[in-house]
Amino acid sequence: MFKKILIANRGEIALRIQRACRELGVKAVMVYSEADRDAKYVRLAEEAVCIGPAASNLSYLNMPAIISAAEVTDAEAIHPGYGFLSENADFAERVEKSGFQFIGPTPESIRLMGDKVSAKQAMIRAGVPCVPGSEGELPDDPVQVRRIAKTVGYPVIIKAAGGGGGRGMRVVHTEAALINAVTMTKAEAGAAFGNPAVYMEKFLQNPRHIEIQVLADTFKNAVYLGERDCSMQRRHQKVLEEAPAPGINRKLIERIGERCVTACKKMGYRGAGTFEFLYEAGEFYFIEMNTRVQVEHPVTEMVTGIDIVKTQILVAAGGKLPFTQRQITINGHAIECRINAEDPYKFTPSPGRITTWHAPGGPGVRVDSHIYTNYFVPPNYDSMIGKLIVHGDTREQALARMRTALMETAVEGIHTNIPLHRELMVDAKFMAGGTNIHYLEHWLEQHKR
Ligand code: ADP
Repeated sequence: MFKKILIANRGEIALRIQRACRELGVKAVMVYSEADRDAKYVRLAEEAVCIGPAASNLSYLNMPAIISAAEVTDAEAIHPGYGFLSENADFAERVEKSGFQFIGPTPESIRLMGDKVSAKQAMIRAGVPCVPGSEGELPDDPVQVRRIAKTVGYPVIIKAAGGGGGRGMRVVHTEAALINAVTMTKAEAGAAFGNPAVYMEKFLQNPRHIEIQVLADTFKNAVYLGERDCSMQRRHQKVLEEAPAPGINRKLIERIGERCVTACKKMGYRGAGTFEFLYEAGEFYFIEMNTRVQVEHPVTEMVTGIDIVKTQILVAAGGKLPFTQRQITINGHAIECRINAEDPYKFTPSPGRITTWHAPGGPGVRVDSHIYTNYFVPPNYDSMIGKLIVHGDTREQALARMRTALMETAVEGIHTNIPLHRELMVDAKFMAGGTNIHYLEHWLEQHKR
């Protein structure tokens, strides 16, 4: 096992990784920007290094500053968390060239999956079902583009090969709008991701977003830890997640899970990863793979009892997966609500000082958050300030626990989306289970205020 790890992230995930390190008896070095000087995990740390000013590009995205911090503190490995540099193959490469272990997959795996076109092609080779669409990148010739769209069938979605975070996508309903949409998505993709390549998929009308969590070691062992349902989204961003996905045949999940495991073995994948699928009319369609720990990993931890972050660290240190597929069982039901510092209905960010914070508790309740009373939410980063996760024997029990936990939670001084979560937890359709990816947007339309 490593003696010391550097955690190249901030917020709740920095704290989450710090907790895993403590349990493993590994020292954690925290890095922070000037805006995060007072963060809880920085105060709790034995070692912390300031890596620059508030702006992410000068701190959390500053590769030389992070690598120097690892050098001066004698860390052996770097955990990138999620977001920031976590899916940056060049970073992973620089980390390893500088003599540190990158806690994640190889730069080659990150590169392969980071380009959604090459990712889809790799999945097709591994027998993972994908959304029908263009075979690869869209050509420049408008005649050919029109022909591809005709074959795929409208509506189609134009997606950036380098896209992420719900950006770089455009739905097209008619041929008249096609070429303009392709041109605009290309221009945006070039500016936002430095890669203007786009591809086309059939736009599925009412799918659910279901994803499979995998873990792999460097001894060709790979397992899947069941699925998560992340269909409750706004602007392609997940708002809450649950595991297992209500109403999906277990045999079908097993089949897809096994395909994901095969794909991992084929590409020599190591560490934690997520295969994201759209699920419609009993079929799974791969859309992308995330080569890192995800925000919603706790729901899987709650139903499997497996610590995903600790396992990431273990396999990065050269350890074998401590369980086989047969030893993995899904127990009960878990739900996660993302707590964002934002107006609950207008979604405008609401940074500032938290004057009161009361965390919920009780059986089956988990809070992953770095906030505290008097904490200042900086305006420079993502608005997520924590996650509330519950576990119950059944989905009904988990829902009841989440309602209780949300009722107990108090955040004052800033706005949060807790009121929205409270309403969703008593919404009849959500309670019935199986809502699709458009449900929340429609709900918000109807509940406009
Ligand atoms: P990102 O990397 O930006 O998260 P994804 O490819 O994972 O992009 O897609 C994000 C979301 O966009 C999906 O969860 C889904 O809501 C929507 N989406 C993507 N592709 C399609 C499609 N072919 N049909 C319908 N919706 C889609």
